[in-house]
Amino acid sequence: MTLPRLAINLGKIEHNTRTLVTRLARSGISVMGVTKAVLGDPEIASALLGSGISGLGDSHIENIERMRRAGIQSEITLIRTPMLSQIDRVVRHADVSFNTELDVIAALSSAAKKANRMHGIVLMVELGDLREGIMPDDILKTVEATLGLPNIIFQGIGANLACLSGISPGDANMGALSELADSIDAKFGPITDIVSGGNSANIEWALSGADTGRINNLRLGEAILFGREALYRQPIDGLHQDAITLVAEVIEAKTKPSLPWGVIAQNAFGEIKQSSDSGPTSRAIAAIGRQDIDPAGISPPPGFKIIGTSSDHLVLDVGSDNVCVGDEITFQIDYSAFLRAMTSPFVGQVMESQANDVYSKQ
Ligand SMILES: *Cc1c(COP(=O)(O)O)cnc(C)c1O
Repeated sequence: MTLPRLAINLGKIEHNTRTLVTRLARSGISVMGVTKAVLGDPEIASALLGSGISGLGDSHIENIERMRRAGIQSEITLIRTPMLSQIDRVVRHADVSFNTELDVIAALSSAAKKANRMHGIVLMVELGDLREGIMPDDILKTVEATLGLPNIIFQGIGANLACLSGISPGDANMGALSELADSIDAKFGPITDIVSGGNSANIEWALSGADTGRINNLRLGEAILFGREALYRQPIDGLHQDAITLVAEVIEAKTKPSLPWGVIAQNAFGEIKQSSDSGPTSRAIAAIGRQDIDPAGISPPPGFKIIGTSSDHLVLDVGSDNVCVGDEITFQIDYSAFLRAMTSPFVGQVMESQANDVYSKQ
């Protein structure tokens, strides 16, 4: 089997998805499955679609086109405001897009008219994280302008927190989003169907028993794939944290001294390493490196320690384990290491479908 590889357990991803869909449904919240981290992988997208999500979302039109080429026909939302240079592709392949600029919405309108299609718009509202969003005071006039454009359907509003500044979703900012939905509907009639509160950072708030107001959708990637909320990266009860693991191959296994010798200067990454002498160490090199993963985001099996990582070598202290050349080592991986691994041409992906040790707790 290809090495290194991401082992992706579809059964566990389906379990995580279904559990989140069921729990959030109790608060009247639907789940958009976000596929950007898996680059729009059609098998994973299909697993999400079979597990109760209300639609798919991705930040890259290229990934959306990949899902369309694979025959996926369900609703797909572009969750990053479209590039003007990609408007025709957006109108052709995405049903809905998230938007913050009237010029872009006007371009979507002209392109949709030309293509004889309708395109849905969700307006993103700035709620303090200072990434994307229309300032709340400008929302009503932006809705009004959007409503006047041909081949455009205003579908609702959304917000994104905890991405750039780490601002937590809570009663205050989620309440403000609900109030905006109310004020839009008070002025223009009941037109705000979608009120999309945020991402995996919203899980704790949404499941806390708080009044979720008009919030009726969350867009989830990390929580589905890694079973963790995104504010403190705590495991979500009853979800698998190991649906995705990383497997790498050992290319050297030797006992070496723990202290380097010679004159110490910077290593390949500009760091000066301090080492202490703990006697001879059983070391192994796995054939993977910083080009493929974020070394801070992977954990070796119990009893192993990562000594260091260069572009293409990961050096481990394997403790008392008997590791041989050719052995496979399985690492736990986090979202940021996973993002890099998914975009490395050297890391393969292997799907597994059975759910090992399925949790039943809801
Ligand atoms: C990436 C992204 C998401 C999903 O975020 P997760 O933390 O992976 O759940 C949701 N909304 C937007 C706008 C995004 O860019």
